[in-house]
Amino acid sequence: MPPHAQPLPASDDDAFAAELFEPTDGLLLDASADPQEQARQMLKTVYGYDQFRGRQAEVIDSLLAGKSTLAVMPTGMGKSVCFQIPALLFGGLTVVVSPLVALMEDQVMALKLLGIAADSINSSRSREDNVSVWRKVAAGEIRLLYIAPERLMTERMLAALARLPVRLIAIDEAHCISRWGPSFRPDYEGLTRLTDFFPKTPIAALTATADEATREDIAEKLFPRTLAGERDGNVIVSGFDRPNIRLSVQLRNDWKKQLLDFVEARRDQSGIVYCLSRRKTEETAEFLKEHGIKAFAYHAGMDSNIRAAHQALFMRESGTVMVATIAFGMGIDKPDVRYVFHTNLPSNMEAYAQEIGRAGRDGEPSEAMMLYGLDDIRMRRSFIDNEGGDEDHLAREHKRLDALIAYCEAPSCRRQSLLVYFGETIEPCHNCDVCLDPPELKEGTSEALSLIEVAEQTGEIFGAVQLIDILRGLTHEKIKKYGHHKLACHGTGKTTSKEDWRAILRQMVAANFLRLDIQNHGALKLTDKSDQLKKSEIRFSYRTDVMAPSELSRPKRAKSSLPELDNADKDLYEALRAARSDLAREHKVPAYVIFTDKTLADMAIQKPTTRPDFLLIHGVGSSKQRKFADAFIDVIENWLNI
Ligand code: ADP
Ligand code: ZN
Repeated sequence: MPPHAQPLPASDDDAFAAELFEPTDGLLLDASADPQEQARQMLKTVYGYDQFRGRQAEVIDSLLAGKSTLAVMPTGMGKSVCFQIPALLFGGLTVVVSPLVALMEDQVMALKLLGIAADSINSSRSREDNVSVWRKVAAGEIRLLYIAPERLMTERMLAALARLPVRLIAIDEAHCISRWGPSFRPDYEGLTRLTDFFPKTPIAALTATADEATREDIAEKLFPRTLAGERDGNVIVSGFDRPNIRLSVQLRNDWKKQLLDFVEARRDQSGIVYCLSRRKTEETAEFLKEHGIKAFAYHAGMDSNIRAAHQALFMRESGTVMVATIAFGMGIDKPDVRYVFHTNLPSNMEAYAQEIGRAGRDGEPSEAMMLYGLDDIRMRRSFIDNEGGDEDHLAREHKRLDALIAYCEAPSCRRQSLLVYFGETIEPCHNCDVCLDPPELKEGTSEALSLIEVAEQTGEIFGAVQLIDILRGLTHEKIKKYGHHKLACHGTGKTTSKEDWRAILRQMVAANFLRLDIQNHGALKLTDKSDQLKKSEIRFSYRTDVMAPSELSRPKRAKSSLPELDNADKDLYEALRAARSDLAREHKVPAYVIFTDKTLADMAIQKPTTRPDFLLIHGVGSSKQRKFADAFIDVIENWLNI
């Protein structure tokens, strides 16, 4: 901790915050007491949470010990708390670097509601506003200052900050600093010089996505050097697992019906539906609207005003569905997205993991549902081939796609197959469709041999439809034209349905028993594995439950961690939700920023009628108690008829 710590009058126009945060000796952290315990108390009094999640406590410990720290945590774990609590305990000023203005404004708003003196200097504000924020910063009235990297790294700003007690620098989306990653931002590169300007100030670098190479690169760029020239800091990586997200995959048959069934069963929830094309997002949103769902399209080609309006609706109103291309996501900080529905196969495992990660950031039960089909595989393969690049690159991309296909057809725990890809092994999760409803595996060597045989006999130039029609004994024009009705295998597979054949074929492709040749319009070709199968060296077995998705039961709803409410409490809960909507409108913030559903449910059960009791509710800290207790206690008293 910097020895030059000076007392700062921590005043906000919020007198309560001043009282809570006014430092007595410059540092709020009491050196004689356990820092961990002080952090935990802060979590309780300010945020109203009882326990740290994941590795939050370790990150906070490391920062409180004055060490620069890189925290890699999946989205929704609560990265913000990791630097906000040290910022509060350190006193002085914490500078937070954030790439997106919208994110900055959201965080500042949320912090203000928690009674924390936070503000931001950014390009969306007028010069006067920015100047007035700066005056407050200079006067020591701001605890957390949010700022974009390019603004921070100007000589003037750095010189001005050097005169202030900067106790901590937090860098959000820290992976943007690395050229290794796909999200490199040139304006982040300047941050490398931070250690020169603030050699004694610990840096908190935070990100949700960083593989090993990127992590090293971030540490190399942001950690200070020891006298011996080594990088000094801690890297703390949380697992990629998001156990609250239930994983399900279904074959696409009647996708509109599959989507509608899913969405209708979750009418009061907000979700994201991903589509491949702009046109399809619009059609799909229209389709859902026709069925009374609050759905909006979102894609990069839309008028920016309409797009912003749709985004605002999604952020503020519950029960809305955003039908989007993958352009929608980066910077979407809505914690209560209850599901992500993919209407098609995503591009690869990385993309999939990131896209489903937008569900359930609040840690509550959420769902990821994906539909896929043979068309998707064909299309993804051709995307890869059209992208170009050298042979190695192509082979790699195809392999990555293979991993995703294998995930789709996983015969055992889906989460295991997802995490194994990221180098993590876990026990079966009991929260995926495969665990909850284990598939039966069926011996399918003879069917597989039939398909290999018919592909071989027709010259390996025909696609799935023709091969299956031959086995099923059809005699349409294309069969006759090539004389396929005269093949010995014609009609030998009549007893197996077309759908079953397609599923077997797909699983063979997924497992590389046959190869889909994109250049040749999806012709099926033999592979080494086909030969091994023919020689009886290996066998083929397949999942039967992916065969007829229409018969699959609807995914059972995730068991909510919202407490069960009896009917009377439910009434009160609804009344509390209405009060929350009013407050959200009044404060111009999304409803969850006031209180989460879980907090309201707890309130409906506990029915606090005094301020001290109100403070005991999950998610109620002292600032929110002061701001909102009366409004909600009114509702409760009304309901109790007192
Ligand atoms: P991230 O930046 O990692 O995506 P956030 O910092 O936005 O996540 O936090 C996600 C949500 O989790 C927020 O609503 C936050 O208040 C909540 N949260 C953070 N820490 C805890 C905790 N220890 N217990 C309960 N909720 C928490
Ligand atoms: Zn599982």
